[in-house]
Amino acid sequence: MREGNIGRFILDQITEGQLDWAPMASPYDLMILEGPVAERSSPCTVEANSTSRALRRSSPRRKLSLTTPHKFGLLTRFLSPSAEHLPRAWPRSCSSSGLPPELQAVLSYIFPHLRMVPNGHSRMLIFSFFLYSVGTTLSHTTFSMHALLVDHYIQGAYYPRGGSSEIAFHTIPLIQRAGGAVLTRATVQGVLLDSAGRACGVSVKKGHELVNIYCPVVISNAGVFNTYQHLVPESVRCLPDVKKQLAMIRPGMSMFSVFICLRGTKEDLKLQSTNYYVYFDTDIDKAMDRYISMPKEKAPEHIPLLFIAFPSTKDPTWEDRFPDRSSMTVLVPMAFEWFEEWQEEPKGKRGADYETLKNTFVEASMSVVMKLFPQLEGKVDSVIGGSPLTNQYYLVAPRGAPYGADHDLARLHPYTMASLRAQTPIPNLYLTGQDIFTCGLVGALQGALLCSSAILKRNLYSDLQALGSKVQAQKKKMK
Ligand SMILES: Cc1cc2nc3c(=O)[nH]c(=O)nc-3n(C[C@H](O)[C@H](O)[C@H](O)COP(=O)(O)OP(=O)(O)OC[C@H]3O[C@@H](n4cnc5c(N)ncnc54)[C@H](O)[C@@H]3O)c2cc1C
Repeated sequence: MREGNIGRFILDQITEGQLDWAPMASPYDLMILEGPVAERSSPCTVEANSTSRALRRSSPRRKLSLTTPHKFGLLTRFLSPSAEHLPRAWPRSCSSSGLPPELQAVLSYIFPHLRMVPNGHSRMLIFSFFLYSVGTTLSHTTFSMHALLVDHYIQGAYYPRGGSSEIAFHTIPLIQRAGGAVLTRATVQGVLLDSAGRACGVSVKKGHELVNIYCPVVISNAGVFNTYQHLVPESVRCLPDVKKQLAMIRPGMSMFSVFICLRGTKEDLKLQSTNYYVYFDTDIDKAMDRYISMPKEKAPEHIPLLFIAFPSTKDPTWEDRFPDRSSMTVLVPMAFEWFEEWQEEPKGKRGADYETLKNTFVEASMSVVMKLFPQLEGKVDSVIGGSPLTNQYYLVAPRGAPYGADHDLARLHPYTMASLRAQTPIPNLYLTGQDIFTCGLVGALQGALLCSSAILKRNLYSDLQALGSKVQAQKKKMK
């Protein structure tokens, strides 16, 4: 989110420059090897800061840099949106010309093949940094996805000043000034179709009533699965094109969250705005496969990796708003199946067994936290666990997968990328957000740009480039 970055530039436009970004500490990401694996290997941390990402071991020769993926990321940044602008026929003609295998050799299969070289899985450790950014293990994702993320984060990591709610807070006035309205607690029950099968509005739940809102174009940000499996009428769900698109993708990794409130400021508790990636294995692909297929009773003792962050430390306004308090979030990968049996039960009434299972994951996470941050002993005010069902309820994330469709080889295949686009098989119905590009704030923003381009039938990336040049020229003039 450094000035000059494309994501920052788009956000500046939609928030009229009112959203401020605070840089995170350096290093902003730290990978920690824990458990038996840490005892077996030499001390190792992976640091990421605004100038480099490097694996540092006791021997300086064992240092891996991420400069190559960064360079490749620059290329991918331009190629990925292009795939969506290409005619639908392109991926089909690629298939028949036999181009994809060569393309995929570069774009897709580097990680699965890297596993096969001697000590490949330990070499992959540094790359697996991004598991929490896309929710897919390296063997199942593409090198280009990774390169895109490295390219994004190599410029540094930032946090919205005032917290993430500021993003919506500063975007809403622009929507309203353009004649739009933003409604909350207004669940869309379904997309309305006219007699010709074109989308013509939405049916919205208002209290116990259903209100129909008619409009010339319907844009769904609810994700591909919610839109195609729940929001469009039954007749549309069986359309061959809809079924074909759904068959190409699957929901991504499910997540369990632990939200912790701490007594004390970041200075009292000696906390940094660094993100911690705690790994209990160097072969994270194998460890994850093993973990996800375990019975739920055993899983909490075998968590292969954890993400720990202190959001309060990232926001310069936090202490004014919440004096003497700090916040911590822990994310744990999950199999949705472990919680599936309670999905029909209402929130808050899922019973003792559900609470017990949740607590075992909370306790397992907290024991790691206390080992790594012993200064927090006696400082915990409250702890709340959020299961995949919590994500399903609050984020409307199918199967508790907050990053939408899995960023696996099938989804990132050029054919899928070019097929799964903003324009749906239903006239006047468009998709936007993370499923159209990639997950994350900037990924979802790119999805919005692609969607707007499709509706307006013009390439908004060109408009953005022209606007960027104009702004630069104005800035130069003012100097
Ligand atoms: C704990 C956590 C931490 C994260 N950290 C980061 C981070 O540091 N950086 C980053 O870039 N990304 C992060 N992400 C990922 C990021 O939040 C998502 O990738 C991004 O929000 C996706 O944006 P979206 O607009 O596509 O979808 P969403 O943000 O999921 O928005 C979809 C919206 O549609 C609404 N909706 C769904 N169905 C209906 C319906 N029927 N009627 C009405 N509304 C409906 C949902 O309520 C939701 O508000 C994080 C995610 C999580 C869960």
